[in-house]
Amino acid sequence: MKDFQFLILGHGLVGACLASNLSMNNETFRVLHSEDKHCASEKAAGLMNPVTGRRMALTWNHEILFPFAKNFYSKVWMHIHKEDGNFLSKRTIRKALHSIEEVNFLAAKSAWNGYSELIEIEENTNPQMEIFNKLQSWAITNDGARMNVPNFLFACRKNLESAGKIILADFEIEDLRKIKNGWEWKGSTFENVVSCLGIDCPWVGPELKPVKGQMYEFSGMPDWGQDILKTDKFMIPLENGNVLAGSTYERDVRNHILDEAGLEEVTSDLLPHIKQNLKLEKAWAGVRPTTLDRLPVIKKIEDNLFCINGMGTKGVSLAPWAAQEIIRIIKEEQEAKH
Ligand SMILES: Cc1cc2nc3c(=O)[nH]c(=O)nc-3n(C[C@H](O)[C@H](O)[C@H](O)COP(=O)(O)OP(=O)(O)OC[C@H]3O[C@@H](n4cnc5c(N)ncnc54)[C@H](O)[C@@H]3O)c2cc1C
Repeated sequence: MKDFQFLILGHGLVGACLASNLSMNNETFRVLHSEDKHCASEKAAGLMNPVTGRRMALTWNHEILFPFAKNFYSKVWMHIHKEDGNFLSKRTIRKALHSIEEVNFLAAKSAWNGYSELIEIEENTNPQMEIFNKLQSWAITNDGARMNVPNFLFACRKNLESAGKIILADFEIEDLRKIKNGWEWKGSTFENVVSCLGIDCPWVGPELKPVKGQMYEFSGMPDWGQDILKTDKFMIPLENGNVLAGSTYERDVRNHILDEAGLEEVTSDLLPHIKQNLKLEKAWAGVRPTTLDRLPVIKKIEDNLFCINGMGTKGVSLAPWAAQEIIRIIKEEQEAKH
């Protein structure tokens, strides 16, 4: 008999979702977390968008992932706050269409199966939203959502702290010792270890690629309400009246340096008079753990050692489902052994 069923390494979005799932199911676990390591989740914009990219492709498995995530985050809210609510807020996302060709392409695509319920095309009628160059119309989706990810992590962390389930320490691979049917870490024993260490995970090889993103928070934007506006980049109205703009997508870059090129890229589609009025309030950069095929890594590394990684640009929608998947894999293995 081990002291705990699970040791979770890392408390980013993935670690927090896994810990919340286990906690709601009365499993025994500890989370090991360091505040000094890189945490992509703390840098995230928090968007959940069912159609992404230039060609507005449907997000992988969105019909499963989105309802699962929405339900999961509301259950975690209830678990922590003991009342109805949700860490996610529903947000309409408007993608700017810049030419008649783009409008026609989308109109044709929206007749496809699965697309018509998600996308609607609309001419712009709100002058406050005329912030982009060559704006023709909007492709609108009402299935989008946003989460303030740092707030989610903070609430989960406080909850774990009050239950004594989080250990603040740097994880070193040498401290993990294999024992019969499990692992020992600094004197405590665990049936399973799940690595949720993001880009610094020692067990995921070259399939994991760093992709840096620079984010900028501005005041001085026109007030167009709560809709999220998109070109290649997004503009998210925040609770404090500012607008969050991002993000760059810099492949194979691991640093956190903010540069002029990033600022220029993020604002490049804005009309000159909009750009002139902007005041930069805050800026930061983070590194996304991404895979080449854009699919998550949810796998067994060796007996009783598992890993979830590669959330890429979709941590908010993927992490709850990935956490559930790893639990399913572990339970199936245990049942097969008995
Ligand atoms: C600029 C930017 C914008 C983004 N915007 C979005 C968005 O709008 N929507 C979306 O869905 N996703 C977005 N993402 C992606 C999302 O943030 C990631 O996919 C997701 O956060 C990855 O979560 P994770 O838990 O796997 O990794 P991380 O969040 O990196 O978590 C890893 C955790 O492990 C801890 N850790 C690492 N090493 C150690 C160690 N040795 N000891 C102890 N602890 C350790 C770290 O402190 C960290 O807390 C964005 C990312 C960036 C950088």
